[in-house]
Parts: sequence; structure tokens; C-alpha cells
Amino acid sequence: MADLTLRKPLVGITVNRDYLRGRFWLPPSYCARIEEAGALPLLLPPLQSAAAAPLLDSLSALLLSGGGDIASFYYGEEPDPALNQVDPERDDWEIALVRAALSRGLPILGICRGMQLLNVALGGTLLNISGGPGRLQHYQRSPRRYPLHTVEILPRTRLASILGEGRLAVNSFHHQAPAVVAPLLRKAALSPDGVVEALESPAHHFLIGVQWHPESLQQPSARLLFSALVGAAVKRGELLTAPSAGVELSGPL
Ligand code: MN
Repeated sequence: MADLTLRKPLVGITVNRDYLRGRFWLPPSYCARIEEAGALPLLLPPLQSAAAAPLLDSLSALLLSGGGDIASFYYGEEPDPALNQVDPERDDWEIALVRAALSRGLPILGICRGMQLLNVALGGTLLNISGGPGRLQHYQRSPRRYPLHTVEILPRTRLASILGEGRLAVNSFHHQAPAVVAPLLRKAALSPDGVVEALESPAHHFLIGVQWHPESLQQPSARLLFSALVGAAVKRGELLTAPSAGVELSGPL
């Protein structure tokens, strides 16, 4: 029998769905960053919500990828005219994944839509930020590897312990952002025009969402979030296999 402690963590990554062509898709950079961080990626297409719990029993961490808008009824609002195409089956599936991951103390990283999904799954809301006076451009037309605007990583946050506090140049491909932040979450980064660019839970050992796309950025710091996610997955695995297994995994490590 294989030594469980030598196994690489398995990180589940959610995917996009192309209705017209009947395909799932995901930019390969997500898988590359997870593999570089020492784990193995496993793609998670939308399934019935009941599949979330048994599936996550086999995984070490959850990565919520970017993608389309979240249907507004999940955050209790009517659709804004700027809302793009939605995929409620994907929303349902990912909300079920978040709940199952939280109940297992699984580390979760949300990217772009993934951060918004975390906020909605935990009771927050979203707003449209495109245009308007004083608003920066948040949907770039330059290649994904280039930063577009800066964010301020807030001090004394988990995110600051990973990326350092202060200014960070990031890319940006979104037209929505958190409005009401979910009760479990707190802001961890803001853009100069006040948009919430990162969220995290102080009550869980690794529950972080960023609005930018670190999987596409070239600077070395972009890999730190993936290393931290995999590090948290390894730590959880060690705790689960330790002689005193049964420790509380929902609190800070
Ligand atoms: Mn942005």
C-alpha cells in the first residue's frame, strides 16, 4: 500500500462550460501553477450538488477558477442590465463545493469569478463596476500576463502574510465586484478606486479569494498564492494522518 504521507495533494479545479459547442474548458495555466506548486490538478466539471461531498473526500484543496457571471438570484437581486451570460448549474455546483469544502476544512482559493462565488456562497452580494465617474478600467485589453492596475494588500491579513502588504500590480478581467461582503469574510485588498480585490476568512485556515488572475501573471510573486494553497493542503493532510487526528480544522493553523 502506498505511503499516504508521500502522496501529492490533489487540487480540484472548477471549469467553464461552453453551451454552444457542448464543451468544458479551462486555461491550462491553472493546472501549470498547481503542478509547479507540488500538487496534482483534477478538473471538476459541474455535477449534481450531491456529488460535491463524496468528491471532496478524495481531494486536498479546492481552486475555484474564473469564468462568467453568477446568476443574480443567488445573491437575492434582479439581473442588472450589464449582467452577462450566466450558468446556474455551474453556480449551484460550485456553491455546493464551497459548502462541502468548508465542512471538511479543505483549503479554498477563489480566482476572479471564484472570489465572487465565495462571497455569494457565504451570503454576500455583487455589483456592476463598469464605467462611472472615478472608476478605473477593470477589464483589460492587453495580454493576460501584463498587470493593469494596482491593489493595496491590507495589513494584518492572511493575504499580506503570503504576498506582503502594500501595493501590488495585478491584471484585471472583471466587470463585477463584491458589494456586501459575506459575514464570514473580510476585505484583504482594494484597488485605488475602492473596489474589493481580495477576500479572506479569518476563521478558516485557508479561505482566500482574489479578483485578479495570478495564474496568468509572470512575476514570481504570482506563484506564491498557489504555493500557499498547496502548503495548506499538505498541512491539513499531516494533521489528518497525525496520531491525534480529529483536530479542529476549521480554525486558524
Ligand atoms: Mn480589478
